[in-house]
Amino acid sequence: MAAVVIIGAQWGDEGKGKITDYLAEKADMVVRYQGGSNAGHTVVVDGREFKLHLIPSGILYPGKTCVIGNGVVVDPEQLVRELEELARRVVDTAGLRLSKGAHLVLRYHRLLDLLEEERRGHGRLGTTGRGIGPAYLDKVGRRGLRVADLYDAEGFRRALSLNVALANEILAAAGKETLDAAALAEEYLALGAKLEPFVADTSLLINRALDQGARVLFEGAQGTLLDLDHGTYPYVTSSHPVAAGACLGSGVGPTRIDRVLGVVKAYCTRVGEGPFPTEIAGEEGDLLRERGREWGTTTGRPRRCGWLDAVALRHAVRVNALDGLAITKLDVLDALPRVKIAVAYRCRGQLLEEFPTDLASLRACEPVYEELEGWQTGIQEARSLNALPAAARRYLARLEELAGVPVFLVAVGPQRHQTICRQEVF
Ligand code: GDP
Repeated sequence: MAAVVIIGAQWGDEGKGKITDYLAEKADMVVRYQGGSNAGHTVVVDGREFKLHLIPSGILYPGKTCVIGNGVVVDPEQLVRELEELARRVVDTAGLRLSKGAHLVLRYHRLLDLLEEERRGHGRLGTTGRGIGPAYLDKVGRRGLRVADLYDAEGFRRALSLNVALANEILAAAGKETLDAAALAEEYLALGAKLEPFVADTSLLINRALDQGARVLFEGAQGTLLDLDHGTYPYVTSSHPVAAGACLGSGVGPTRIDRVLGVVKAYCTRVGEGPFPTEIAGEEGDLLRERGREWGTTTGRPRRCGWLDAVALRHAVRVNALDGLAITKLDVLDALPRVKIAVAYRCRGQLLEEFPTDLASLRACEPVYEELEGWQTGIQEARSLNALPAAARRYLARLEELAGVPVFLVAVGPQRHQTICRQEVF
């Protein structure tokens, strides 16, 4: 296997960071293909915790090439901050490559993001307020600025002043503080100079690496149910976390992808607003949040917690054409006497086995649960499936059956070595 795509099969925060970090060891190159600094990964290496927002977690392996692809939206301030933080902690960042075609998230995007959420009031989407949505809006609106534009100072100043004028009109009308385009341009050009050593034509770089037989890992941010087209619209992100996004967001054709793996948390969480059929209110939900440390990496917001949803998982298997699953956080369920999985929905008197993607139907869905026995034993030390209690193995087997694809990996703790590899991914 040369080209492997890792995607989140739920609402994001599945523990992709840990799985990509684990697989990155065998990869020559790690590529991020969508999202922005709203996608936080937490990776623990030798007891040291790293929170990465833009830079692929593969950077924690010395000498690895890590690509921020054209499909990512990049806040230059954030990226420089992340690079400086890694340098401070003596992590070598020389392997980072930033696509010339990646769009920039600029200060007005952040201000517009906050303003838009404020205006939505109760109908808010629960965005992270990082300007990601407005940056993608500019991209689609063909007025976005890209990394390459930072190296054409005159052109950058001109385009920025037009965009800032437009943003200022909206901000002023809402009684908000406006921006000084000229000062902003100089700030960004200075940040551009700091980023210049990393800038490259990354589609060329990745395709050449594949030509030479390199192993490339494509790392999705967020998850399938937050995909702009295949998620629970409009409570979604503005990009394509699904596997097809890997091609668009990196400049690699679909026939080059060899394998797609979905990361699935042993239960479900969701940040922000929007339907979540298997959400658990009360004590059991609190227990999962406490044990799973379910607070957002980027925002610190508590995540909504619920049971594993096999209906949503089958949707993810289909729209990503998953070859297999990586199950994470199985150990979080250790304390529970019984574990539930939603195997279907009841919706307006009908039994649904397929995930409805329109809001009204989804809101009307009640999960139909299957209950399995819990294992009530610590499993963090298990390094093979056989070392797991029988009830945990039954849970995994049932999951495989419901998803219709095999489990490749099982994570039983946050550390790199707390991983069971059942089938090699590369
Ligand atoms: P991501 O964006 O999908 O990587 O998800 P997050 O980084 O937001 O959440 C993953 C969190 O769970 C991090 O704090 C990880 O260290 C932790 N984690 C990942 N896998 C496991 C696991 O198998 N068990 C436990 N207990 N924690 C895990």
